[in-house]
Amino acid sequence: MTTPSNPDTTYAPDPAFAKAAHVDAAGYEKMYAASMADPDAFWAEQGKRLDWIKPFSQVSDVDFTLGNVHINWFADGTLNVAANCIDRHLATRGDQTAIIWEPDDPTKEDAKHITYKQLHKSVCKMANVLESLGVRKGDRVVIYLPMIPEAAYAMLACARIGAIHSIVFAGFSPDALGARINGCDAKVVITADHAPRGGRSTPLKSNTDQALLHCKDSVKCLVVKRTGAQTTWTDHDYDYNEMAMEADDSCHPAEMSAEDPLFILYTSGSTGQPKGVVHTSGGYLAYAAMTHEIVFDYHDGDVFWCTADVGWVTGHSYIVYGPLANGATTIMFEGVPTFPDAGRFWDVCEKHKVNQFYTAPTALRALMGQGDSFVEGRDLSDLKVLGTVGEPINPEAWTWYYNIVGKGKVPIVDTWWQTETGGHLMTPLPGATNLKPGSAQQPFFGIKPLVLDPQSAEVIEGNDVDGVLVIANSWPGQMRTVWGDHERFEKTYFSDYPGYYFTGDGCKRDADGDYWITGRVDDVINVSGHRMGTAEVESALVAHAQVAEAAVVGYPHDIKGQGIYAYVTLMNDVEPTEELRKELEKWVRTEIGPIAKPDLIQWSPGLPKTRSGKIMRRILRKIAEDDFGALGDTSTLAEPAVVDDLIANRMNRK
Ligand code: ATP
Ligand code: MG
Repeated sequence: MTTPSNPDTTYAPDPAFAKAAHVDAAGYEKMYAASMADPDAFWAEQGKRLDWIKPFSQVSDVDFTLGNVHINWFADGTLNVAANCIDRHLATRGDQTAIIWEPDDPTKEDAKHITYKQLHKSVCKMANVLESLGVRKGDRVVIYLPMIPEAAYAMLACARIGAIHSIVFAGFSPDALGARINGCDAKVVITADHAPRGGRSTPLKSNTDQALLHCKDSVKCLVVKRTGAQTTWTDHDYDYNEMAMEADDSCHPAEMSAEDPLFILYTSGSTGQPKGVVHTSGGYLAYAAMTHEIVFDYHDGDVFWCTADVGWVTGHSYIVYGPLANGATTIMFEGVPTFPDAGRFWDVCEKHKVNQFYTAPTALRALMGQGDSFVEGRDLSDLKVLGTVGEPINPEAWTWYYNIVGKGKVPIVDTWWQTETGGHLMTPLPGATNLKPGSAQQPFFGIKPLVLDPQSAEVIEGNDVDGVLVIANSWPGQMRTVWGDHERFEKTYFSDYPGYYFTGDGCKRDADGDYWITGRVDDVINVSGHRMGTAEVESALVAHAQVAEAAVVGYPHDIKGQGIYAYVTLMNDVEPTEELRKELEKWVRTEIGPIAKPDLIQWSPGLPKTRSGKIMRRILRKIAEDDFGALGDTSTLAEPAVVDDLIANRMNRK
């Protein structure tokens, strides 16, 4: 049997690393204090990371009061985001690789290296093509593309001419795409013939055709050639490759206000109907650039790899905008972690000598379940920082990442943030923090987190406490509104706990003052009067050697108020038995305490996840409650069949 993990183990930064890092422990204290003492002075300094056409004289203009919520940063400054990500680097690093593109199938295609000069030309061409289709400042463009360089060109081309992009993940259905095209009244949708992923192919163009049946006739479709597969062709379709050949390769960057919208992006839909988050230009870019540099301890010449898709905010901030604003070499990966085999991530790290690697816990848990052999034998000696994002990382997965991938030498930054926040809000810093597996640890500069009592809404001071996580102040990367629905913005984020930005997450501040995200506020379980975060019980289950993944929800229980219902996915070769069920119950009792013992354990070959890889607990809660008639918005669900299996084998039948 596995020994229970020791939650008290911490990992101090290597002194040599800390010395060379942008921020060490003393630096963190000093800079954080400065950011709290005079936020406007602090952020005015950070605003200088960008090249402004007209410098700003105002820093922040923010009000969180319900009915009057507004958030402005650097509002009287003007700039162009694409020029900040490309043009200003041309003189010094025009021939440096900006983007390394790594294809889905490495046995069929080679990686591509795109220099800053080439990026400049391609973005200008795309910008001119969009203009020739009638796209103007403030117009919306939907991007529905595979992870190919053209996706980055399209984003930056929009930024260059002042159009607002809204990326729809290529795994989404025609319905979801149509809803998003209509939601922002887009003028153009950019797509490709097909999207190869994990050796399979999605017909993006025909999905787009279907979506457009439900949109205005005036919407134009710009089609990029990816595979060359045959597609239908209608009179509102335009051939990108043909048009780009003819297009001019220079295009003047538009002068934009710092508060002009840069993009709209929908949240993952874990807790309900996705929200159309709006980010603006100056503050967002400054925050993405700053967090990219400091949190990953990025230095000139490093190769940075974030494995996310540009369909998620992680891809916006840490594949495209943050790294390119910093003049980095950033990898765009078209594939999946398990194709051609479970060693793909490590192959790519070795091949491109990756220095910073950033991925999601769901990918790590999947790879951990495949065994260590896929990591061993790969040269990962260039890795300097590892990162995770998206869900709480279970200490078991953290330890695997640390020991097997990082060989016990590479710090891990567990970054907590949201689509709404534009960039990291809480995270360890690799040269400053004594790492604790599973904890997001400390606020980033300028961020003031508070823990509130969920009932009374009072601030809970001191350490060793838990409650609801809110942020007391604004930061430049904060979302400005929900597209077309400012009222929903105010209601969702500023009405439950007046005066604060409500994150929707529960959290614990431990005895050392470190923060732990315990899960969504809606997911807190109350067993016989004891409040419990789902993350803790899940981590205990995953810590068992035979468990690959687990999801925990509450369900109505006659005696305890709520009972604990656990969905457990076992490791590849493990058979589910009654004995194992008993063992897991006992295991959780010893890891956490008798109160946390699951009442029901359902063996689950798969768990319902959003297409960004997060467990959709609200669906699991419905099944646990034996009330699965109305599952709510399932448009962002990755594999609907998983749900049918769980319903068929549910444990709590009335
Ligand atoms: P929706 O808001 O539509 O329900 P979502 O919240 O999953 O979807 P995202 O913005 O993609 O949409 O995810 C943000 C959430 O992800 C956070 O609120 C938090 O619950 C979770 N999260 C992200 N990073 C971490 C992390 N490092 N540790 C714990 N939780 C995290
Ligand atoms: Mg959310």
